[in-house]
Amino acid sequence: MPITKMKGKIVLITGASVGIGAATAMAFAAEGAKLLLAARRAGKLAEVASRALEQGAAAVHSVGLDVRDRNAVQRIIDELPPEWSEIDVLVNNAGLSRGLEKLYTGRIDDWEEMIDTNIKGLLYVSRAVVPGMVERKRGHVVTLGSMAGEMVYPNGAVYCATKSAALAISDGLREDLLGTPVRVTSVDPGLVETDFSLVRFHGNADRAAKVYKGLEPLKAEDIADAILWAVTRPAHVNIARITLSTVHQANSLLIHREQ
Ligand code: NAP
Repeated sequence: MPITKMKGKIVLITGASVGIGAATAMAFAAEGAKLLLAARRAGKLAEVASRALEQGAAAVHSVGLDVRDRNAVQRIIDELPPEWSEIDVLVNNAGLSRGLEKLYTGRIDDWEEMIDTNIKGLLYVSRAVVPGMVERKRGHVVTLGSMAGEMVYPNGAVYCATKSAALAISDGLREDLLGTPVRVTSVDPGLVETDFSLVRFHGNADRAAKVYKGLEPLKAEDIADAILWAVTRPAHVNIARITLSTVHQANSLLIHREQ
């Protein structure tokens, strides 16, 4: 069965400036895709763009985007240059956690930021991009869920809830796209060592490092590999979910650490 080739395909990756998004850009670059990279930090995006071109990307177009700004999301998609407008693959990766606290003492500003980014941002980008996929009768939406969306861990209720919502949105979108060839995949990792924990702890590097202490976490490249695998299956194969973790992690609650 022929696999779906990425050469010359337009791949939009949100949150492409660092971490899983940047690694995903490299994975698609190596397949000769055209990369549409979006995030807020233009400087970091420029670094990823130049590495992606070295890696073999057919072309790169970067856009400064805060996915929480619904008007900006729609405007950027509507105003893409014609050679960039027919998006084949959307990787909904932009997201973050903020805080690790009991629900009844948590910071409401942290909640707002997670909900606005991980749920509403995901919806805005999908709403702007998917109609074109339906019209062109081709496309694939990959959304970063999380193991945290499958099982809640203590002090993480709101982040976990946003990732449960992401899973529900992927499942619902897959249902709503039935009868079209557009595919939907949720990729749900456990612990991946990126800036994720640094962002969660508002820049506290010592606290962030402890998250990965005594275990071998997944790397951003492991997730990129799973995303690329799902997207390159034959066109009739719809990979609904991929849950992956390090061997040191069984689920959100069970983690093995070497002494
Ligand atoms: P990361 O290294 O902190 O990267 C997060 C990315 O999201 C950055 O590129 C950031 O770019 C972007 N982003 C955040 N808020 C944004 C906004 N409002 N608008 C546009 N872009 C925004 O974290 P990561 O680990 O790669 O996380 C990527 C995704 O994987 C997230 O959805 C996360 O929830 C999910 N995930 C991570 C893990 C893990 O353990 N690391 C596990 C499961 C799921 P800018 O700051 O430049 O905008």
